Amino acid sequence: MMQTAQTIQDIIEKVATFTNDDAPKITRLVYQESWVQAQDYLLTLGQSLGMNVAIDEMGNGILTVKGTEEGVVTLGSHLDSVVDAGKYDGVYGIAAAIIAVKELVDSYGTPKQDMQIFLFSEEEGSRFPMNFSGSRFIIDDLPEMEQLKDGDGAFFMAERKKALDVLKAKFPVGQAQQPISFAEIHIEQGPVLERKNKQIGLVTGIVAQKKFTVTVNGEANHAGTTPMSMRKDALKQALQLIGYLEEVTQTIGEPFVYTVGEMKVSPNVTNVVPRQAVFSIDIRHLDAHQLDVFEEKMHAYIQKKEAQTGMTMSVECWLNEPSERMDTEFLTLLETICKEKKLTYEKMPSGAGHDTQIMNLVTRTALLFVPSHNGISHSPYEYTASEDLENGKEVLKELIHRLAY
Ligand SMILES: [Zn+2]
Repeated sequence: MMQTAQTIQDIIEKVATFTNDDAPKITRLVYQESWVQAQDYLLTLGQSLGMNVAIDEMGNGILTVKGTEEGVVTLGSHLDSVVDAGKYDGVYGIAAAIIAVKELVDSYGTPKQDMQIFLFSEEEGSRFPMNFSGSRFIIDDLPEMEQLKDGDGAFFMAERKKALDVLKAKFPVGQAQQPISFAEIHIEQGPVLERKNKQIGLVTGIVAQKKFTVTVNGEANHAGTTPMSMRKDALKQALQLIGYLEEVTQTIGEPFVYTVGEMKVSPNVTNVVPRQAVFSIDIRHLDAHQLDVFEEKMHAYIQKKEAQTGMTMSVECWLNEPSERMDTEFLTLLETICKEKKLTYEKMPSGAGHDTQIMNLVTRTALLFVPSHNGISHSPYEYTASEDLENGKEVLKELIHRLAY
């Protein structure tokens, strides 16, 4: 018999043992054996705590405490990880939800509304070229998956079936219903709370995001014989544009963020003037209008430079995600709860995507953060102090208490 976990830390440590890597690295991609073991452990834990457990056709775990009236109050987070991850991302939200619901039942008994915890199968997009597939299944908003393959050529549908066959042999199959609310708690994955010495992040919204690929076409030529005035240097032109956009970013101001994370230079040889530079741009802000301002300035600059230099530059926008605002009444309620519990808090946007943004398409949502030490995430060095894990759970628990009782 397994031992019943007593604390959030117990659950996090146990789930961390389900990994393809050696500790402290966590790699638990959707439908892999380590993922099946983790989902099995959590569903078994739910059973041992007296919850109704089910697995849905996507592999989401569903833990339910039945209420006396209509309505389902939901909470949860994701079970999968990125490659070489830490142990808190996603799993903390699951562990906190399980402990919060257990403690509510211990203290107050049967709720009015059902309390339902989602152990989302996948959020990170780290195995197949699709993310948020767990929560997207629940809200019935999935793309075609027949042809989806992972990096090793394994098909999504076949891998899912293999994993679910194991779990379905042990647990009943179920299906989430339309909830009346959804709440998620997650590590911040940034440095703001720690820097500002705040205990809880109250997320106002998840940022709008655009991603571009910019191509600058110049002319390859001899690095020794081509005078500076006669060059069409694609890399230097790209760097000027990147520098100009940094100025635009300063003008817009925080919390706007602008990242050039990838660049390819051709022919990428020491003695040849670069013919082509291709680079990525990632911009994010809660106010989508600020992304448009940035984009307009970029296009105006490019037009001007093309005319001046005779080079061509093209911009392809390949991702355009709108922002999602969390429920304002829940935010006010969470502020009250933090004050009552004498916890310091910061209202802030989330620069990263979360399952909450998917659930937000169908129901009222709340998203809470706890501090990430040094702002590190997606790394084995990810760390949040036990006290912070507990504080976050207390706020989540009180929110669910007010919604479900
Ligand atoms: Zn996450």
